[in-house]
Amino acid sequence: MVLVNSYTVINPATASVVTEVGLATVEETDAAIERAHDAFVAWRDVAPGERARLLRSFAAVVDEHVEELARLEVKNSGHTIGNARWEAGNVCDVLNYYSAAPERLFGRQIPVPGGVDITFREPLGVVGVIVPWNFPMPIAGWGFAPALAAGNTVVLKPAELTPLTAIRLGELAIEAGLPEGVLTVIPGKGSVVGERFVTHPLVRKVCFTGSTEVGKRIMAGCADQVKKVTLELGGKSANIVFADADVAKAAATAPYAVFDNAGQDCCARSRILVQRAVYDEFLGGLETAVRGVKVIDPGDEASEMGPLVSAGQRDAVARYLEGVEPAFTGPVPESDGFWLPPTVVLTDDTQAPIWREEVFGPVVAVMPFDDEADAIRLANDTEYGLSGSIFTRDVGRALRVARAVEAGNLSVNSHSSVRYWTPFGGYKQSGLGRELGPDAPDAFTEEKNVFIAQD
Ligand code: NAP
Ligand code: MG
Repeated sequence: MVLVNSYTVINPATASVVTEVGLATVEETDAAIERAHDAFVAWRDVAPGERARLLRSFAAVVDEHVEELARLEVKNSGHTIGNARWEAGNVCDVLNYYSAAPERLFGRQIPVPGGVDITFREPLGVVGVIVPWNFPMPIAGWGFAPALAAGNTVVLKPAELTPLTAIRLGELAIEAGLPEGVLTVIPGKGSVVGERFVTHPLVRKVCFTGSTEVGKRIMAGCADQVKKVTLELGGKSANIVFADADVAKAAATAPYAVFDNAGQDCCARSRILVQRAVYDEFLGGLETAVRGVKVIDPGDEASEMGPLVSAGQRDAVARYLEGVEPAFTGPVPESDGFWLPPTVVLTDDTQAPIWREEVFGPVVAVMPFDDEADAIRLANDTEYGLSGSIFTRDVGRALRVARAVEAGNLSVNSHSSVRYWTPFGGYKQSGLGRELGPDAPDAFTEEKNVFIAQD
């Protein structure tokens, strides 16, 4: 069958065709939103313990399919098999974590004269989740798991480039016993399906992850209906290495903080700031580490970095390197597909596009700094504020700098930033609102206040 309105999914590691996926029209999107709204009426009244049981059942079915989902992601997105297994496992973990929420959606009893005042956490209705191509599985789960736990139904639009695992998760939800219409995956274009989430009055919240440019449009569109919106946008995060740090550790780990997922990570530490006294020592260690990154077939168990997601993304990243002389690069395979080597650029120009803009590829810029104040000033000289790392052995400095850097997720002497049980989100133009952590279900509710007179 030839699908008239369809997208050809390409394996980014080989540039070969994987499959054809139909794209929803506006009419099909409207019908799915209406079905989700019908399903909401029953889903909101499912007893908390039963909703919890269904989410645990969904988690268990995902767990049984981790390997299948991971292989699908390797083929569709070029993620390394190790990362893809973690990503599928993350969906399972997030579902299990929020399966504890339905019985714990507490309100408050607030002292008032003449009666009782209590608050309720009411679900919103239909929630629209819009997912980018860089982490198709985790970002879908961070939206749908807490939203479903709070009693909402969800329509989910995967990125046009990477719909396969989302479609499979939608099937697994049904297999796990979630009623029809509770979680609906709608593959389609951002300009069609995504825009309709913004304009359709039955969609009560849009949960968007993607570029700052599209995020601003979504926020402006949501204003028209005073629709709730959560935005997780771009980043240009700093990795700050002080002279008193374990410089060898900082240098050995820095490549993985930026080249993971071929740099297509909103949390990528794509600016490295190094205190001048250890600048040469750090660069020596960094070069050894970068040359050692295993850039090979992402399906190989040993692979540490795969290709870019598409020819378009590879070309967009390559344009940043035109006229720029890299200090050194890592390996790149001789293969069809959309590959670039890990690339390190040295700069002292804070206006250089490579220093200011989110490249979203395997490119990192390194700059020296003089003292703590200088490091904080340079780290904050950006419109973004998503994450960052601080390497120092001085606890006081670690605290001072962690408090001073304007970013939502910081790590000291490590590069970890996303744990499903801690909050995640950005300062400044990196986003609005928080995902994950203990409070995420509240973001999918209205707080209702009720006073009951005693006489
Ligand atoms: P994007 O172009 O903003 O797309 C993100 C999603 O929005 C896709 O599903 C896209 O659909 C959809 N979309 C596009 N135009 C739309 C519109 N007018 N209305 C509604 N939806 C629309 O971003 P991307 O190119 O996929 O991803 C790269 C960017 O996302 C980077 O800037 C990165 O930093 C950011 N990102 C941020 C986070 C975070 O957590 N902060 C996480 C991941 C990515 P199509 O697929 O059809 O274009
Ligand atoms: Mg885009």
